[in-house]
Amino acid sequence: MAKSPEMKLAVFGRAGVGKSALVVRFLTRRFIWEYDPTLESTYRHQATIDDEVVTMEILDTAGQLLKVEDTQQKESHMRWGDGFVIVYDITDRGSFDEVAPLRGLLEEVKKPKNVPLVLVGNKADLDHARQVGTEEGERLAAEMACAFYECSACADEGGMVAEAFHELCRELRRRKVVQ
Ligand code: GDP
Ligand code: MG
Repeated sequence: MAKSPEMKLAVFGRAGVGKSALVVRFLTRRFIWEYDPTLESTYRHQATIDDEVVTMEILDTAGQLLKVEDTQQKESHMRWGDGFVIVYDITDRGSFDEVAPLRGLLEEVKKPKNVPLVLVGNKADLDHARQVGTEEGERLAAEMACAFYECSACADEGGMVAEAFHELCRELRRRKVVQ
């Protein structure tokens, strides 16, 4: 069998948006209620996407964008990654407002390449507490020329979480970032 490509994927977003919950959901199909918010982890995962085996390294980041030392660490994670999942929480307007600055930093770190990414609005199960409309997410994704998914790490009936990660792998393949 052909050697499977290895893709480095990093997950970014404000603390508490559910990055760890999404990664764990993707890897185990389970939901964990509490995950150490300061913990940063890397996972290896293999999946077959459109009949091709893909090996992913997934970095679940932690920290606050606005702290200087965290920004330096973010930049080094951005240099490491091939593709990115930017997550906000549909019940937290502030987390949505952090998406554009994060993308800006990504573009800065990765220039002159334009960066493969997907945008995820998490906690879609909390529709009663929604602060960010679906169409706002769609509009922002269109501006960033990336795919958009509303997901719930805790109620992922449609398998949207895996779909978001798989779509990022497809995007990397299409762009031949990773062969
Ligand atoms: P992180 O800081 O971005 O890694 O966020 P965590 O994965 O630690 O999640 C923060 C909090 O949000 C935890 O209490 C999770 O249980 C909760 N959470 C994460 N994803 C969801 C979701 O899809 N729906 C709901 N209702 N809660 C979630
Ligand atoms: Mg976390």
